[in-house]
Amino acid sequence: MQLYTTQTIKIYNSLTGEKAVFKPINTGHVGMYVCGPTVYSNVHLGNVRTFMSFDMIFRYLKHLGYKVRYVRNITDAGHLENDADVGEDRIAKKARLEEIEPMEVVQRYTVDFHNILNKFNFLPPSIEPTATGHIIEQIELVKSIIENGFAYEVNGSVYFDVLKFNKTNHYGKLSKRNVEDLIHNTRVLDGQSDKKNPQDFALWKKAEPQHIMRWPSPWSDGFPGWHLECTAMSTKYLGDHFDIHGGGMDLKFPHHECEIAQNEAAKGQSPVNYWMHANMLIMNGKKMAKSTGNFILPNEIFTGDNPHITKAFSPSVARFFMLQAHYRSVLDFTNDGLLASEKGFNRLMEAIQALDGLQTSNTSTFDVLAWQQKCYDAMNDDFNTPILIAHLFEAVKHINQVNDGSASITQNDLDTLKTTMHSFVFDILGLQSQSTSENAQSEDKLSQVVELLIKMRQEARANKDFKLSDQIRDQLAAMGIQLKDGKEGTTFTVN
Ligand SMILES: [Zn+2]
Repeated sequence: MQLYTTQTIKIYNSLTGEKAVFKPINTGHVGMYVCGPTVYSNVHLGNVRTFMSFDMIFRYLKHLGYKVRYVRNITDAGHLENDADVGEDRIAKKARLEEIEPMEVVQRYTVDFHNILNKFNFLPPSIEPTATGHIIEQIELVKSIIENGFAYEVNGSVYFDVLKFNKTNHYGKLSKRNVEDLIHNTRVLDGQSDKKNPQDFALWKKAEPQHIMRWPSPWSDGFPGWHLECTAMSTKYLGDHFDIHGGGMDLKFPHHECEIAQNEAAKGQSPVNYWMHANMLIMNGKKMAKSTGNFILPNEIFTGDNPHITKAFSPSVARFFMLQAHYRSVLDFTNDGLLASEKGFNRLMEAIQALDGLQTSNTSTFDVLAWQQKCYDAMNDDFNTPILIAHLFEAVKHINQVNDGSASITQNDLDTLKTTMHSFVFDILGLQSQSTSENAQSEDKLSQVVELLIKMRQEARANKDFKLSDQIRDQLAAMGIQLKDGKEGTTFTVN
């Protein structure tokens, strides 16, 4: 019997503004689509947080026994600098600035994206489709929307007719806007003169002569509008009607609103049952932005090479830190927060290690089954990881008490405690134990050994025994340990 038959999840649905019991369309199966990155620069930490939330959700659904098809796309064309269909294609612009092919930009930053996500121990999605791989599907969608009367062509470009659509449907139902407000609040930008109304959005754009990324279509040589790819790829792999669509809060409008409109216009039905949005990540209480310097790249967390942090943190500590906030809350990224999470993480890992050596007795002073259900209840309540983590620390306290003899546990309860801790910590939260004390200790020992050799080399040099001092340096280098002599003394790096 699968766990999903006994555990009932409630999901906060952005469309209704309420938590509701999750009922998949097909029993035992879940289709989930999440908007992926536009691969024109290193992945932003805020995006990592969004994808981590859905990685945790993917892991929990799988843990409950659902067969999950998780589709997360790669945007490699069509995303312009300005969401209102103006400006250069983000990838083409980067290619022009760096004097490389657009597909080199795509390759470089797709690899970076995967590397970072691997370090954070993400599970790969079931399918990771690209916009450029689905141009034909996108053209077919545009044709249907034109046929159904909700789009028009001007000078080789095709636009979605928002006002006409809104007569029979509701444009703005996800982001809780109405078209009248949009009309008042939309600025008319240059380059939008082809549109009947400034609220309309591009389904197909005719490429300017200098635009490299272009495909033939019935209307012009051009490229698809950004919102279109997600409609094409989600329905291709999950069907016209599927369970969960996720993304960052910033995508609710216009991106997700336009996705709903495109689906309703092309297929006559709303595509998604549960819309889920992950909240923002800020740093030191302020918006993260390269321009103000209030910024950190994900990789800099692991190297410590950023002025906003005092040391390097392991990916699991950073992951643990992020999951200590609920996915719908704003997360404030701070050095103090990371330091506190590191302490908590180490306590958690030490307790899990201690589980193996616990003495059992005839009675338990801890109700393991009640505790286990509390862990499920936390996750069933819209994936409440901070509450789950609080329950995990309740178990840590008990493990430590059994360890020091002030509490007891039966063998049966210990077995349940062990499997439950492992499931929630490693399988569902996706934490890894590699930065536990064991590894930290061996790293510590390595440092001590190298420091000793550095000291011996200094002594050799002081004695003018340059043969020995060079030998120490060269043999360390052969092992991948580089010594660097500076004003402050000798430091080393391990490759
Ligand atoms: Zn999308």
